[in-house]
Amino acid sequence: MPELPEIEALRRYLLREGLVGRTIVEVDADWPGVMDTVDGMGGLSGLVGHRFEGIERRGKQLILPLAKVDAEIPITPALSSDGDRVQNERHIEGVLGLHMEMTGRLGIMDPEDESFRYRRLSLYLDDERRLELDDMRRWASVRLEKNAEVFTSGMGPDALDPGFTAAEFTERVSVRRSPIKSVLLDQKVLAGVGNIYADEALLIVGISPSRRADRISATKLEALQETIAGVLENALAFIESHPDEHGRPYVIDAQDDRMQIPRKAGAPCPQCGSALRAKKFGGRTAYYCPSCQH
Ligand SMILES: [Zn+2]
Repeated sequence: MPELPEIEALRRYLLREGLVGRTIVEVDADWPGVMDTVDGMGGLSGLVGHRFEGIERRGKQLILPLAKVDAEIPITPALSSDGDRVQNERHIEGVLGLHMEMTGRLGIMDPEDESFRYRRLSLYLDDERRLELDDMRRWASVRLEKNAEVFTSGMGPDALDPGFTAAEFTERVSVRRSPIKSVLLDQKVLAGVGNIYADEALLIVGISPSRRADRISATKLEALQETIAGVLENALAFIESHPDEHGRPYVIDAQDDRMQIPRKAGAPCPQCGSALRAKKFGGRTAYYCPSCQH
């Protein structure tokens, strides 16, 4: 399942491929259910004639603002010293939200490139390439909305947002009475920390997944925030250095070299060798060391 690092790698890949500035000229979907849309945006075909203005991410949600290419927008740079920005904001016509869920991935294809095996959607671009969505399970979501708030409302700050401080993390987490593992997975508290990354960070900092969040010291919570960011950054570096043969990031099995914890009860703790234990929190299994984590 793609987590925050996979989605950030995907975002950077789309930027590298020059998706921003390209206009959609044709849309082709294999699966009618691939796309939800709001009234007035014209559904799938309503995407034609729209240009990608940016590629943003919050947690695991990709957010792509779109501008209508033939829109006649008055240029009013006098409104602000940052004239370009004013002009850009006035152009934004819709926002395409992409969520990969369990098995979704994206690729920018050259005309001669073979399609993905489980291609669900192709957006043909004005430079003859196409953006494809591959999704074996068909759970990925593609939504066209008027503004980005639909995708981010109720979501906490992004776990990798450089502006997200240890102090803010401590403030958000220390008021919770739930086990810390459940708090870390709650996207309303913090967006983008997945199950395996939460387990890794808790082992490194030495906090038991069962510990009530409001009973962890501020110093420990600050260390936890730094560790989470470090674990996510490491995973991102690993994913970016292991692209497929086309230079595209892909979903890497959760259990690989970038992870320290064997996800199996009874397996040895990577730090002390004690047998790891498993425990469920809201349907997600946590693996932890009873000796290292308290
Ligand atoms: Zn241990």
